Amino acid sequence: MLGAIAGDIIGSIHEHGPPAPPGTPLIDPRSFVTDDSILTLATMEALLEGEDYARAYQRAWERYPDAGWGGMFRRWASQGGGEPYNSFGNGSAMRVSPVALWYTQRDQALEGAERSAAVTHNHPEGVKGAQAVVDAIHRAFAGQDGADILGQVARDYSYPIEPSLAALQESSRYNETCQGTVPAALQIACQTESFDECMTTCLALDADTDTLACIAGGIAEARWGVPEWAIDLIRERLNGEQWDLVQSFYRTTGKPVNRWQINESEQT
Ligand SMILES: [Mg+2]
Repeated sequence: MLGAIAGDIIGSIHEHGPPAPPGTPLIDPRSFVTDDSILTLATMEALLEGEDYARAYQRAWERYPDAGWGGMFRRWASQGGGEPYNSFGNGSAMRVSPVALWYTQRDQALEGAERSAAVTHNHPEGVKGAQAVVDAIHRAFAGQDGADILGQVARDYSYPIEPSLAALQESSRYNETCQGTVPAALQIACQTESFDECMTTCLALDADTDTLACIAGGIAEARWGVPEWAIDLIRERLNGEQWDLVQSFYRTTGKPVNRWQINESEQT
């Protein structure tokens, strides 16, 4: 989803840096697209084409070999994308958001999340992380408020939640697992009040920042839509082929969830 791609780009330059202090700009000329966006786009492509997720993810690596891939994924993709490798890395959760947009029925969306995860991240925590993200996005689209989404998803997926965002920031340490990233992204997206505040809060954590902001950004889009400045940022960073894919995906799903679509329909 656009919110996930925006989060990836916004977080890209902070991934191995210190937590960003309040007031750090969300738009930075150095920011770039990483593997989180590339695989989110591959999920869109798989859904649009009715294609196997493994093939779409493996081809994404072939097309963009320098996108900052994790070691295990790179090995899997370079060997032709064969058997899954039992990962519980946060990769299954970062790429899954389009599944939530694609399926209007919750059970179908959760089943789609499992299939998208299981081609590489077939460890129970890898599958669970993807399903929790899709579940949260679905609940946000349905109009549930942040407290309800957080409470229900944390309970259903047995994720521990910190008492406050300040406590989360205090306890946060760099972590590339689903169980280390998904609960934090969920809490941030549910306990902030706007897309911008959600992004700023992600950058303030000691975390796998691009992926944290990517996962939170998908949920944030379902809550508030994606602001115009973030759409502009995405358009600047994606190539023409990638942007065409995003447009096709949103047109096909017909979800009026972001200002880009509202503006576009106003103009036509
Ligand atoms: Mg990344």
